[in-house]
Amino acid sequence: MSECYFTEQHELIRKLAKDFAERELTKELLDEVEETGVFPEEVLQKMAKAGFFGIKIPKELGGQGADARSYVLVMSEIAKVSGVASIYVSSPNSLSGGPLLLAGNDEQKRKYLTPVVRGEKKLSFALTEPGAGSDAAGMTTTAVKDGDYYILNGRKCFITMAPLSDYAVVFAKTDMTKGTRGVSAFIIDMKQEGVSCGKHEDKMGLIGCATSDIVMENVRVHKSNLLGEEGKGFNLAMATLDTGRLGVASQAIGVAEGCLEEACKYAKERKQFGKNIGAFQAIGFTIADMATKLEAAKQLTYRAAYMMDTKQDSGMAASMAKLYSTEVCNEIAAKAVQIHGGYGYIKDYKVERMYRDCRVFTIYEGTSQVQQIVISSKLLKK
Ligand SMILES: Cc1cc2nc3c(=O)[nH]c(=O)nc-3n(C[C@H](O)[C@H](O)[C@H](O)COP(=O)(O)OP(=O)(O)OC[C@H]3O[C@@H](n4cnc5c(N)ncnc54)[C@H](O)[C@@H]3O)c2cc1C
Repeated sequence: MSECYFTEQHELIRKLAKDFAERELTKELLDEVEETGVFPEEVLQKMAKAGFFGIKIPKELGGQGADARSYVLVMSEIAKVSGVASIYVSSPNSLSGGPLLLAGNDEQKRKYLTPVVRGEKKLSFALTEPGAGSDAAGMTTTAVKDGDYYILNGRKCFITMAPLSDYAVVFAKTDMTKGTRGVSAFIIDMKQEGVSCGKHEDKMGLIGCATSDIVMENVRVHKSNLLGEEGKGFNLAMATLDTGRLGVASQAIGVAEGCLEEACKYAKERKQFGKNIGAFQAIGFTIADMATKLEAAKQLTYRAAYMMDTKQDSGMAASMAKLYSTEVCNEIAAKAVQIHGGYGYIKDYKVERMYRDCRVFTIYEGTSQVQQIVISSKLLKK
């Protein structure tokens, strides 16, 4: 049903990602990741070699130069098997690499983006603060000019990959009086003096990709590490999130598809009252609803990607895709656990992890309520 959005080339890319996920992201590996909290670097290197970290990044910067639809396919095939592995794909292509791609000069792109695409360095995106989540403009991190440098002070929180990162794109206020027009973006070196990470957050899911604060105390950042123009940082963050939402929607359709497959498999195997449980109409109809909602989520996500590829205004479409796909992913995962009965609550079964992993999809990169604000404000604009 989705064929109209994809070419043969897209299908080859989908197959590459699917084969990789099935071959490399084995149950043994994923169990080990859950247990240790560490995603093995050698697997990340294989992902980099397969080109996944630079799907959307132009070839001259070391990427594949592919389109948004290719990115959606890779993300969803990887997420279908492992939500946490898909974070490592989305970060360079979208949230962390996005600001560099959108506003970086040639030198910044070559210095900071190319090594990330090659898997040599890691980069994070630091917008959220303890007092400024959905209301990102309420940030209090400051960047005060001092000759050729800016002095950064503040605390970012919930930053994906922060403890693993070499660099971070940080948003800070260069002018406290100008609201969103007083925000600027900087690239900081995570090893430089004054930068530290708090403790690793003990998360519900997506274990294997550490999350922490980034604390900045009198961090001196040279003006050459200002990303884009001074005062344009907030727009840059919002533009990055606009495309980032497509990545979260793709993660959601991937995890939801994995849950649906597991639920169907289990419904055909598990016997109660002398029958496979799939033979009970209640289970069959639940599966029918799961599949229908997943298909609707895919259509919204593929359409948003197609609009991006054809240079149409895709902001609202990406918000709709994120809102719907992440909400139904949570619903589908919950139903998959229900179909597994007590076994769905046990770690031996994949749906237990998938259920935990997808819970954050309706929260990060703009909560569902924030997507509703974005969509309704566009519709109600004069
Ligand atoms: C695992 C994880 C990884 C993350 N990774 C990153 C990252 O890499 N970089 C980064 O910068 N951030 C990251 N975040 C932060 C994430 O984007 C924020 O948690 C999110 O934007 C919500 O902010 P908040 O947690 O402060 O919630 P709040 O903004 O306090 O929201 C609390 C509740 O109120 C609702 N709400 C808020 N305002 C309104 C409103 N106007 N109308 C209706 N409802 C409203 C929200 O929808 C939510 O339900 C991550 C978070 C998590 C959990």
